[in-house]
Amino acid sequence: APAVRRTRTRSVCCYCGVGCGVLIDAEHADGGPGPAGSRIVGIEGDPEHPANHGRLCTKGRNLPATARSTAGRLLFPEMRRLRSETRHRVDWGVALDTVAERLAAIVDRHGPDAVAFYVSGQLLTEDYYVFNKLAKGLIGTNNIDSNSRLCMSSAVAGYKLALGADGPPTCYEDLDHARTVLFAGSNMADAHPVLFRRLEAARERDPEVRWIVVDPRRTDTAAMADLHLAIQPGTDVALFNGMLHHLIWEGLIDRDYIAAHTAGFAELKLLLRDYTPRMAADICGIAAADLVRAAEWFGRSPAALSLYCMGLNQSVHGTDKNLALIHLHLATGQIGKPGAGPFSLTGQPNAMGGREVGGMATMLAAHREIGDAGDRAEVERFWRLPAHRLSADPGLPAVALFDALRSGKVKAVWIVCTNPVHSLPDIGRVREALQQAEYVIVQEAFRDTDTVPYADVLLPAASWGEKEGTVTNSERRISRVRQAVPPPGEARPDWWIGNEIARRIEARLAPPGAAPLFGFDGPAAIFDEHRRLTIGRDLDIGGLDYATLDAQGPQQWPFPSGSGRGLARRYGDGVFATGDGRARFHPTPYRPVAEPTSARYPLRLLTGRLRDQWHGMSRTGRVPGLFAHSPEPELRMHPDDAARRGLASRDLVRVASKRGELVLPLQLSDEVGSGTVFAAMHWSGQFLASGGINEVSQPAVDARSLQPELKHAAVRVEKA
Ligand code: SF4
Repeated sequence: APAVRRTRTRSVCCYCGVGCGVLIDAEHADGGPGPAGSRIVGIEGDPEHPANHGRLCTKGRNLPATARSTAGRLLFPEMRRLRSETRHRVDWGVALDTVAERLAAIVDRHGPDAVAFYVSGQLLTEDYYVFNKLAKGLIGTNNIDSNSRLCMSSAVAGYKLALGADGPPTCYEDLDHARTVLFAGSNMADAHPVLFRRLEAARERDPEVRWIVVDPRRTDTAAMADLHLAIQPGTDVALFNGMLHHLIWEGLIDRDYIAAHTAGFAELKLLLRDYTPRMAADICGIAAADLVRAAEWFGRSPAALSLYCMGLNQSVHGTDKNLALIHLHLATGQIGKPGAGPFSLTGQPNAMGGREVGGMATMLAAHREIGDAGDRAEVERFWRLPAHRLSADPGLPAVALFDALRSGKVKAVWIVCTNPVHSLPDIGRVREALQQAEYVIVQEAFRDTDTVPYADVLLPAASWGEKEGTVTNSERRISRVRQAVPPPGEARPDWWIGNEIARRIEARLAPPGAAPLFGFDGPAAIFDEHRRLTIGRDLDIGGLDYATLDAQGPQQWPFPSGSGRGLARRYGDGVFATGDGRARFHPTPYRPVAEPTSARYPLRLLTGRLRDQWHGMSRTGRVPGLFAHSPEPELRMHPDDAARRGLASRDLVRVASKRGELVLPLQLSDEVGSGTVFAAMHWSGQFLASGGINEVSQPAVDARSLQPELKHAAVRVEKA
């Protein structure tokens, strides 16, 4: 028998923004690494990783099962010349040359903005960096957006407007020190399970710790709360305004902190005069006494921490919801000290890293602004581009990007590591967009996603356990991701694919004598370039490189040169990242959801995650054991609403909105109130006859964050 060599590799779980450290066990059957002989056989939580101290949730523990077989993986590049043809296998050289030629030709014919990139919070920071540089620095378009637009952009807008910079002021240690925890639009028990266990442990140590959960649904998190505020969907701003009104009235605000460290409180106070607890509670559909209790617990707490996620972000007023919550912290001085602060929980594993490199349509590298001529000039100098080479026009954000493909304004799209035909709202429009597009490139690890059928070119990507780089988790902590086994077949790391095609485009588009932009020989070189671009910025990681991360383990930013360690908690000195160092209050009037219910569509549809599934299930759907918790797709409806419609549990029902419909089995449940229904976001065309819940969801976006209102739509439900 051939010798079997066993290895153990320190890396990171590829699912949520908790960013748990893992130890990957692999076997290499032929005595050395090689695609045929290597496989991942086990996993353990990394006891030395500060995010999880050895803990893993069900999804993380099952990662080896998702990597066990190459069935369903894309193993070699495929292409077709005409839409009517079937794609056929080609070698990498042909695929890379063809993509470069087609993109360069489209830019020649229609200009740089005829090309767009749609990338992913699942990418590593180095992957993201290459694609951002390719779009903005080489092609000259800001049309690069990410599925992080669907996830975190309202949190980003809220932090920037209130605190002056993106990124949470808090750290995971604050979970141990908080005495009042306000969960807002976050089912943390299911979506960030390892951090939730840490909170549970803190409450076991100190039974005086109080949990307030704001959620229209009685989620697993809400079921464990000391106070559950089951507000009407979309009314969070009224709730937070009402709480702050009470705090002002009762003298529970920190006037000294407001005077010394903030601006704009007088204007906000004027608005809040109207938000009496009774008025706010009426809007929210809760008892005024409960709103007052929440305000009292928050205002009188020695350390109040808020934890929030998609329930605030995925809304046409997501930015206001974030701001109104941050106001509670600023007005009470509950920020910059242990156990306190507004802590936005990152959905995806590397939504933070993507923002750090500027990999979105509305930002530049290292938290620089597209609209700022000085910022553009800095990046131009760093990349050795001619002056004014970077476009000053914001690129197209996710929903608008696909609308522009549909209208023909954008001709070609390169989709990397994401499945927009499942995850974007109103997916009928996304399908039309991809049918209309002149050229669709899909870079993927898996063969069965809903987006793959639209690809003119399929580029096989390496996946978890198969590539090197870094990610940044919810507490700004950068961890090394390491390769345990080689990728299967001809799959390649995402950065490599981007770099190779960029080099070929550069040869066609760049003026003679221009400095080469894409000479990267590996992820360490990319990280180093990114590092140098952050120097002097709020996220300065000038003191970090792979060797430091390998020697000292994961580190939080900022980590400037000479610091020796990252900063756990920001704004402890009360100096914020605004021009004058003061945080800002912004008046946030309550405004209703984008699509009110009507006689024709009388029910409010909420969407969310399940504990053991991830996104479109291209990975978790490969593991039978992960279906034990929630075996089937379903629509959850209050028994009174079902009785009114003559519906019974397990009936097949048609869920319809103005945009589309899908059929789901019905589950009677009092976790939702009457008038509201719930469906999980995960089930896609792989599992359903239709394309999942986004057949009916709402594409309207927040005017500042440009994030769509995936959390609410008006629907009708009838027997199928
Ligand atoms: Fe992975 Fe998140 Fe579970 Fe940690 S909590 S193991 S990062 S899915």
